[in-house]
Amino acid sequence: MRTLKDLDARGKRVLVRVDYNVPLKDGVVGDETRIQESLPTLRHLLSQEASLVLLSHLGRPKGPDPKYSLAPVAEALGKYLPRVRFLPHSPGSEEALRAVEGLAPGEVALLENVRFEPGEEKDDPELASRYARLGEAFVLDAFGSAHRAHASVVGVARLLPAYAGFLLEKEVKALSRLLHAPERPYAVVLGGAKVSDKIGVMENLLPRIDRLLIGGAMAFTFLKALGKEVGKSLVEEDRLELARDLLRRAEELGVEVHLPLDVVAAERPEPGVETRIFPAEAIPIPYMGLDIGPKTQEAFAKALEGAKTVFWNGPMGVFEVPPFDEGTLAVGRAIAALEGAFTVVGGGDSVAAVNRLGLKDRLGHVSTGGGASLEYLEKGTLPGLEVLQ
Ligand code: ADP
Ligand code: MG
Repeated sequence: MRTLKDLDARGKRVLVRVDYNVPLKDGVVGDETRIQESLPTLRHLLSQEASLVLLSHLGRPKGPDPKYSLAPVAEALGKYLPRVRFLPHSPGSEEALRAVEGLAPGEVALLENVRFEPGEEKDDPELASRYARLGEAFVLDAFGSAHRAHASVVGVARLLPAYAGFLLEKEVKALSRLLHAPERPYAVVLGGAKVSDKIGVMENLLPRIDRLLIGGAMAFTFLKALGKEVGKSLVEEDRLELARDLLRRAEELGVEVHLPLDVVAAERPEPGVETRIFPAEAIPIPYMGLDIGPKTQEAFAKALEGAKTVFWNGPMGVFEVPPFDEGTLAVGRAIAALEGAFTVVGGGDSVAAVNRLGLKDRLGHVSTGGGASLEYLEKGTLPGLEVLQ
């Protein structure tokens, strides 16, 4: 992979694809993590007297829509870097080209949302060549978009000398350690909503790992597959056979599987509802399991002991609604407390949980890409990485 070390950006106009898909609240950036994560790359290029043209998407607009404008992002970026300008032009337009031609060394211009362009998600070659006129070199630092074969990710990378930014490099380094020669014992903790979202990752990781801990809603598909009573808990009925299959395969491979022993249940995932604790194999109707219970918290912490590599994806319960966040917090703490272990968290909601629970600084790597990190662990590569080889 070509990286920033291979790029002499001195005096050049460099086009950088960043991931500024940030949450907005009343027209202001609600969480600046993704902006901060882009700074090492931007500062490095600016130290070489380059001028920078930044491209990003934000949300899922259907064409131009002021609700999804990147203007507030430029505002936020301006707090970290001097000389940031927002150029309110569609990034493939003639106006955009004319505006960036006037950039001086050390200046940073953020163009409007690439998803305002109808060809972006189709990787339209005509649009890609319009993007390519915006710079003399291309840097991909949007790890969170690297699994998208879109014009601003792969299309333009085929047309310009293209390099991985520092964030992309850091992500790939951390995630590839989970696939290639990880230190053992190796534990994977999976949770979240659906088995079906995580099948690819499970299948690819299973032969590499020693212990598999399953919580979250998806645990109920496994419990039901084993014939347990799960009450009104979420179950993917059409994945029961697959769950049985995965358990069988885990056994053949000698992977220790840990499922919940007890659950915190309620009739609905709402704040203030009455909660009860049940054994995981006997949840009566009308209750649904909404978090792992205290025995499971302990068992999971024990199962993690001594692990030298840990990957965690998916919350253990409905962490958005206290008190159903306690299992996620307990597992996060247990992972964070491991001595000498390489620990990685990936997945949109898992990372949100880690941030909200204040665990980020105690984990080895917290991936900025939800879908991208899972797809990388499933396939060992991403469309955005392929074009940088
Ligand atoms: P990630 O984004 O980290 O990959 P997912 O999107 O797979 O995670 O899952 C996160 C969602 O799973 C959260 O919205 C959470 O509320 C939900 N969830 C976790 N456990 C349960 C449960 N027991 N019942 C219902 N929903 C759950
Ligand atoms: Mg999610």
